[in-house]
Amino acid sequence: MRPTESPQIQLEAVSKAYGDVTAVDALDLTIGDGEFFSMLGPSGSGKTTVLRLIAGFERADAGTIRLGGEDVTALAPFDRDVTTVFQDYALFPHFNVLENVAYGLRVRGVPRSERSSRAREALAMVRLDHVATRKPTELSGGQRQRVALARSIVVRPKVLLLDEPLGALDLKLREQMQVELKQIQRELGITFVFVTHDQEEALTLSDRIAVFDSGHIVQLGTPKEIYERPTSPYVADFVGTSNVFDEEVAKRVLKMEGAFALRPEKILLSPATATAPVGAMTATGVITESIYIGTGHRVHIELEDGTRLVALEQSRGALHPDAAEPESRGDRVVASWSPGDLVPLGTDSSRAVQHR
Ligand code: ADP
Ligand code: MG
Repeated sequence: MRPTESPQIQLEAVSKAYGDVTAVDALDLTIGDGEFFSMLGPSGSGKTTVLRLIAGFERADAGTIRLGGEDVTALAPFDRDVTTVFQDYALFPHFNVLENVAYGLRVRGVPRSERSSRAREALAMVRLDHVATRKPTELSGGQRQRVALARSIVVRPKVLLLDEPLGALDLKLREQMQVELKQIQRELGITFVFVTHDQEEALTLSDRIAVFDSGHIVQLGTPKEIYERPTSPYVADFVGTSNVFDEEVAKRVLKMEGAFALRPEKILLSPATATAPVGAMTATGVITESIYIGTGHRVHIELEDGTRLVALEQSRGALHPDAAEPESRGDRVVASWSPGDLVPLGTDSSRAVQHR
């Protein structure tokens, strides 16, 4: 989907301040029809405020908001064709599941018979048809989450806004719900605007991601672009672990001008006696820590000049040509990588984050 061809949501120079805190700062943003769009950033970076501005729960101090081409900047929430799914599901405890889902239709004056069939359809979509007559208290957390989702999609909005909807679920359920959310979005073909502080979740689900910092979008792109080509130390570090070489370290270790990021999984570790692959850049160091992470080891290395690197060693099956004994603490190793795996970063090195 090319978002600029049929924009569903357009923000132009939108700002919002609370007292002297600028939550959203002259933000421009275009989200396409049918896109799964994520806003990713640390707590306090302005994601929820943007969502509330789109929904109409907050009024912009400046700028224009359009939905489907229509200027909605001054419209109330119920005059906008969007629905919000909140993290605290806010289900009615005295209604059963079906009644909870049908509620939005009742408010909109949809006839009883149609209400029931549409609510059942929405429940089937989130795979909950079998619990239609239960009360919310008789459901698990994941099921309540799905009821909240069904309640939102039953009114067939053009845009669904989701604010950390999986935040309260445990990891296993969360991963399962991620898959389901993506499937539901595909089946419905509507625009999802998804807020999360979890980079893995954003990478897994999204067509595009906007990375937020202090009310600004610092980078916008596909998951692959964001992960493989971060344009600043901030994004390189926030989205997955990165080795960030600031200009000084780059000059010393890489003999290169500028700042660069290098993903841990791009580094190959070999015994200090081995010869490095042709064309590789290398650095020699000592392993200070090797942490078992199930699928492999996260290995911390201190280079001769004191620079620290993190490498990821995948554990391999015995048949794999690269299967090797993992190095351990105190071993001298050669770290090597392809020059093409170095990602040039912008000059915004003031935000460089050192590795812990
Ligand atoms: P995020 O969702 O990324 O965590 P928010 O949009 O909630 O960020 O908040 C952005 C900034 O605006 C933060 O500094 C937050 O403290 C402030 N803020 C948000 N809502 C309010 C409010 N109702 N009153 C005062 N400050 C607020
Ligand atoms: Mg928030």
